[in-house]
Amino acid sequence: MDNGTKDTETKQSIGGKDRRIVQICSLASGSNGNAYYVQCEGVSLLVDCGISFRELSNRAKKRGIDLKQLSALFITHEHSDHVRGMKVMTNHLKHVNVYMTAGTKKNVKEYYMPINRSRVHLIGQESETVVGPFKVRSFAKPHDVPEPVSYTIEVENGATIGVYTDIGEVTDRLRDELSKCDMAFLESNYDVEMLRKGHYPQNLKDRIVGGDGHLSNRQAYDLVSSLPADSRLKCLILSHISADNNKPEIVRDVFGSLSYRMRIEVASRHDVGLLFGDMPWQDGCDD
Ligand SMILES: [Zn+2]
Ligand SMILES: [Zn+2]
Repeated sequence: MDNGTKDTETKQSIGGKDRRIVQICSLASGSNGNAYYVQCEGVSLLVDCGISFRELSNRAKKRGIDLKQLSALFITHEHSDHVRGMKVMTNHLKHVNVYMTAGTKKNVKEYYMPINRSRVHLIGQESETVVGPFKVRSFAKPHDVPEPVSYTIEVENGATIGVYTDIGEVTDRLRDELSKCDMAFLESNYDVEMLRKGHYPQNLKDRIVGGDGHLSNRQAYDLVSSLPADSRLKCLILSHISADNNKPEIVRDVFGSLSYRMRIEVASRHDVGLLFGDMPWQDGCDD
């Protein structure tokens, strides 16, 4: 996803003529900002809004994504790389409803919050929210804030998509949720050796590798490779790659042995990724 092309992948699924086509795209990924887009039948939602609205709009435009179709924004937690663009985005797009846990709402900096609070809806760490064709399920994740969540997005008679970043360690619940996904954004934050040898102060290194920090390449790989061989997961976008403690080439190398089972991409820290249609891999038309 670093290739900067304007290609889009919106091939018709062969999963049945009534199967709904779902599209996903990483608009931003990493400690400098996160925004993950999902679209089905003209309704779209975003998980996190951690870049400026201007940058979000520019990147969306590159992929022909119409942000005016956006219905909802689901926030995973209050770290600025996940909420930085929320206020200005909700100012521009007046019909977008925002969902977050009470713990997140309490801790989001005031200047990131939507001006119109009636559009902010509280959800539990275990919740289900229906938006158009989507059923969005939240579940708790280990990360160093009070009430962080991951999201699994189900489309009836369509794909199931996971958005799993900022996770200190793999839990049984995460494995179970990932096993239900057709497509997923999964954190592969750091290479253990790069982090160990790198210039970060020890307390920051400890925070990253700790159970409330981030997933390493190895942890993410072990998780994916532990899924049954006939797992539904066919498109994996490795996300939230560290600038200082990782490289896209290392991530590709680590996951290379799984590429016969699924399409593997690495989300760019600096640009929009490819727009993936539901199951483009099945008709053999890669980009
Ligand atoms: Zn983050
Ligand atoms: Zn975080």
